[in-house]
Amino acid sequence: MDFNRIKEKLNILADAAKYDVSCSSSGSNRTNKNNGLGNTGNGICHSYTEDGRCVSLLKILLTNHCIFDCAYCVTRKSNDIQRAAFKIQEVVDLTINFYRRNYIEGLFLSSGIFKSADHTMERLIAVAKKLREEENFNGYIHLKSIPGASDELMYEAGLYADRLSVNIEIPTISGLKLLAPDKNHADFIKPMLKVKNEIIRYKEEKKIIKHTAKYAPAGQSTQMIVGATGESDKDIMYSATHFYKNYNMKRVYYSGYVPISMDSRLPSLGTEVPMLRENRLYQTDWLLRFYGFSVNEILDADNPNLDMDIDPKLMWALRNLNFFPVDINKADKHILARIPGVGMGSVNKILNGRKFRKLNWDHLKKMGVALNRAKFFIICNSTDWERRDLDAIRIRSMILQNLKSKFKNQYTNQLSLFN
Ligand code: SF4
Repeated sequence: MDFNRIKEKLNILADAAKYDVSCSSSGSNRTNKNNGLGNTGNGICHSYTEDGRCVSLLKILLTNHCIFDCAYCVTRKSNDIQRAAFKIQEVVDLTINFYRRNYIEGLFLSSGIFKSADHTMERLIAVAKKLREEENFNGYIHLKSIPGASDELMYEAGLYADRLSVNIEIPTISGLKLLAPDKNHADFIKPMLKVKNEIIRYKEEKKIIKHTAKYAPAGQSTQMIVGATGESDKDIMYSATHFYKNYNMKRVYYSGYVPISMDSRLPSLGTEVPMLRENRLYQTDWLLRFYGFSVNEILDADNPNLDMDIDPKLMWALRNLNFFPVDINKADKHILARIPGVGMGSVNKILNGRKFRKLNWDHLKKMGVALNRAKFFIICNSTDWERRDLDAIRIRSMILQNLKSKFKNQYTNQLSLFN
């Protein structure tokens, strides 16, 4: 094996893969100590398995050659960049070597499309198949599904991969037409539908036949690029809800557009990556999945975009002051979950704690409630600070006075997370 050439390919193809956040990504630096193939500063990310464990993955493209020319993508055919392609055996060897050195617990493998969707998908599957059948590899494998790949190949991919994902990329059909006119929306939907149906079949069969062959046990996910076109946050969240509901997505990832080309259809070079917006979308996604909110409660025709200064739950609460104050010592779980500054962890602590005593500010603080936000919306067994004469504008400004620096920190953390 030509180590220098492999290293060169690894640099190119791990760098190209970093724009894909559909496996939760964060950097890792492990220095090469034995002069071997171990410089993994590029290409390691983290993801979550079926049972919720966090695992580190080798994250690479099979190739950054592509026959398509999607304007938002660094790999597009018209982009003048260094190109490379791994051989199937090279990816297998890299994965096994890194695994044996304890650098990784699995593989995230994506690819530019070369020749055709099926040809590319066949090669991705060949890597996973070799790892499973020849190397007896039981680590985590996340395969990108190539839009337009046949049902037969999507079925085969799920037999070897833990997770499959097709990135929808642009949240609306009109946006996709504008930036990737060669691509067809239906080509994204077809593999998603196949994977969804196969996962349902697998779960049903498993109830009857214990040894049914596993099919994508960690489910499927997708990614949307945020800020490349003019979609509102409302458009994005309705689109995400559609994919959660109709394709049983485990996760929808939101990836702030990184300006990479001069193109009149796209934000100009040097435009800031919308990291804070990305963060607000994740918070909204969380409210929809775990806090019982629906999109139209947070975003509607009058409020199509999230407020960048405050979190979406607070945004909703300020528009619905008639819902408050909530009595911490009496309210149901789903009502408690709607109080700004009260996360699900605190909700459960409140429900347990109030079995034994009436809760006051001190108890709530110890339970992790962010009182600087929550105090405007609750009643508890304290009267130290209670004001019911404030309107939404006044509450917002009082909260922001205290929160400003916190949000700046959050913004900085996000940036470093994706560096
Ligand atoms: S098909 Fe995928 S890899 Fe190719 S240019 Fe479009 S987004 Fe990039």
